Amino acid sequence: MEITLVGTGTGTPSIRRNPACILFKLGNKNAVFDSGPGTIRSLLAAGVDYTNIDLVFYTHLHLDHVSDFSAILFAAKIPPETRKRPLRVYGPSGLKAYYKHITELYGDTVCPDSYKLLLEEIANKDIDIDGFIVSTKTLEHHDGGMGYRVTEPGGKVAVYTGDTDYCEAAVGLSRNADILIAECSFPDEIKMKGHLTPSSAARLASEADVKKLVLVHMYPVCDSYDLISCCKKTFAGEVIVGEDMMKFELKQEVLL
Ligand SMILES: [Zn+2]
Ligand SMILES: [Zn+2]
Repeated sequence: MEITLVGTGTGTPSIRRNPACILFKLGNKNAVFDSGPGTIRSLLAAGVDYTNIDLVFYTHLHLDHVSDFSAILFAAKIPPETRKRPLRVYGPSGLKAYYKHITELYGDTVCPDSYKLLLEEIANKDIDIDGFIVSTKTLEHHDGGMGYRVTEPGGKVAVYTGDTDYCEAAVGLSRNADILIAECSFPDEIKMKGHLTPSSAARLASEADVKKLVLVHMYPVCDSYDLISCCKKTFAGEVIVGEDMMKFELKQEVLL
């Protein structure tokens, strides 16, 4: 499993950070987790053409996570690169209604005709993508947010929280993960309900006993704070402040 942090930012524009998007390579499939504004362009820098996105997973329907869904559908129809391969889109309840609104708003310019579009609401369900198990849990965010746990066939686990506050469900979702990609919207000094800070992300990582904590979804104010030192007070494992286009590879240990 290979993971690229395509966007480690939020809805507040930042030169340093694109809005939310994490790219997972699940075998030979490109799986995009969240597609905030500008994602289809940012994905090009990560080596993924918009016609080659196989799967999209949404954590919730806030604009900084979902706005490029319509851009993906729109680009798929522009010749000569009209999309052929099927597109599977998963998300929380409300995803289908959201899609309906998009089609009502943009009409034929976004409705698929050259490819198959599958939409599925999968809150608190598990799905199997070529042996990769993708599990979801509803977490604690304003209108509901969903975190994802991806287990590869060899057993390595990556978790992406999306937007959430600290909650027991997030600890359960993250249990023993090899890598926890956790939102860290604000520093401890500016704690906002429904979001993590370095201390609460570290508490989550520590209680879930994860190996590595990677912080994403940072508002620009975070850039002036020492997030790592703050996390280290609570979490003994490795802490990384995510940057756009940072890559991680989860490999199986070869037993000789
Ligand atoms: Zn967000
Ligand atoms: Zn949100």
